[in-house]
Amino acid sequence: MLYSEVAAAYEEMDNTSKRLELTKILADLIKKTPNKLVDKVIYLTQGKIYPDFMGIEIGLADRSVMRAIASTSGHSLKEIEKKYHLFGDLGSVAEDLLQNKGQITLFSEQLTIEKVYDVLDSIAKSSGPGSLALRLRLLNRLLANSSPKEAKYILRTATGKLRLGIADYTVLDALALAFTDDKKNRPKIERAYNLSGDLGLVANNLAMNGLKEIEKFHIKLGHPVRPMLAERLDSGKAILEKMGGTAALEYKLDGERVQISCNSNKFWIFSRRLENITSQYPDLIELSKSNLKGKEYVVEGEVVAIDINTGAYLPFQELMHRRRKHGIAKAVNDYPVSINFFDILFLDGKDLTELPYQNRRNILKDIVKSNARVNIVPSKIATTVEEVEEFMASAITDGCEGLVVKDQKSVYRAGAREFAWIKLKREYNGELTDSLDLIVVGAFHGKGRRTGKYGAFLLASYDSLNNDLRTVCKVGTGFSDENLIKFFNLLVSIKVPNKPNHVISNIDADVWFNPQVVIEVMGSEITLSSIHTAAMDTVRKGNGLALRFPKFTGRIRSDKGVSDSTTNTELLKMYQRQRKLIAKHSDNIL
Ligand code: ATP
Repeated sequence: MLYSEVAAAYEEMDNTSKRLELTKILADLIKKTPNKLVDKVIYLTQGKIYPDFMGIEIGLADRSVMRAIASTSGHSLKEIEKKYHLFGDLGSVAEDLLQNKGQITLFSEQLTIEKVYDVLDSIAKSSGPGSLALRLRLLNRLLANSSPKEAKYILRTATGKLRLGIADYTVLDALALAFTDDKKNRPKIERAYNLSGDLGLVANNLAMNGLKEIEKFHIKLGHPVRPMLAERLDSGKAILEKMGGTAALEYKLDGERVQISCNSNKFWIFSRRLENITSQYPDLIELSKSNLKGKEYVVEGEVVAIDINTGAYLPFQELMHRRRKHGIAKAVNDYPVSINFFDILFLDGKDLTELPYQNRRNILKDIVKSNARVNIVPSKIATTVEEVEEFMASAITDGCEGLVVKDQKSVYRAGAREFAWIKLKREYNGELTDSLDLIVVGAFHGKGRRTGKYGAFLLASYDSLNNDLRTVCKVGTGFSDENLIKFFNLLVSIKVPNKPNHVISNIDADVWFNPQVVIEVMGSEITLSSIHTAAMDTVRKGNGLALRFPKFTGRIRSDKGVSDSTTNTELLKMYQRQRKLIAKHSDNIL
């Protein structure tokens, strides 16, 4: 199949942000694609060549790409830089320059999908001395055979800036449409994705073996399972009612969620957002090797920094020292951790996700040998509000965030946020009980002490229905001087010239970003707003939802991607819960 057909579909996708249209264009592209290439087309359309958890990125630097454009188009680097400032992306620069050169008549070999994929793959995998020259040679050859439009999309892919707005669930919709013609089959496809975290693998299975095989899909060791997530409620009473009178309470530890996958002596560790973080935690591998029974398993737990002398849990900030690429051995020594398991999903050939919570927990107990560094998260079965309150109090005393309450009968619902797990967090005086994880989409220049840095940030939440980002608040408090410098350096590299199309905002920020940084904020309440666009028109026509008196908590949620941030639907639920609480409170007063 020719890459020109893919580029033509990308051009169509580029011209719309409507989810239904994107789905239809992608489904049509999938239908045209030979079965054995469907996985490659899916990866490429999401701007990658492998699933994220494999950690293989093309990541060509702008400078290298500029040099490749210069040698193909005959223009100087200076001219290219000038155009780059004008267009804001090197793909468009190449398209423009090659168009002027009449590149369409020059190519000697038509580009196929395989060719483009293989070259990008070689570029991604080249390393060591001489790799820069090799990458350039490979890219030059690709560009010399590209039409202007193909060059645009190849370069956007190579620089990690394809951004067609194809989210994971749009791919799932498109796969269901392309292969089954029946929307009802989508959950079966989604289940396979939830168990493997790999859309290409699911697409390939579907294309080669059909829906029947997808129904038999199981966890694959070395592939991350998408995490089961918790809903939130504000009181033990409400939670017990929701769970039918009895529930399993667990400490909500304040660390980093990890999933450990083991196949004999091979280990993989995945983060909450399914990144492969194995190299970061060599100590967890050793602890698992010596304290878990079983040849093959997938277990989940929370890693927490600990005081090595007392074993006490330390605050989350301590653990952040472990997020690094270099100096791991020293960090392992300086910042010791404990691993606290709370679930098991696979054991010695058996997928356990369909077993009820209580059975999984019993199996977990059987295979974990507890000690000072390896534990099972403290738990208790509760039937009364007093028991919940008591356990909550001891969780807080032990340095936890609160509780995760679990339905004893519930299976492990990979990738779902439902009421089978409910989190109950500590109350903050007069404030919302829970924090929000919001995406930094824009910033405002600082004044006074903040001159030369960003003084405030425009934050958005994720609208999964419309596949866009909608503003919730502007935040300027809670930042230390050190935070502000860190933020400036972090954000300046993801600056974009204009507001991205999928950011829906009535506010004009001084600077816009490619949305990817998620931060945690607290606030006093969720209010209706005529300015902010989150959940627009849902509660009242012409009004969105906003966070009042937002304050940065000091935590950058690097374990969360854009689609893991607080969604518009969650925001709406928080607003409704808050209304109910206010109503109840005024009943009590009356
Ligand atoms: P948060 O921002 O509250 O950590 P989240 O979006 O990461 O939330 P949720 O499913 O809403 O995830 O809350 C559960 C999170 O709490 C898990 O992702 C995990 O990191 C953490 N956690 C701590 N203790 C437990 C536990 N006993 N069971 C499950 N999750 C736990």
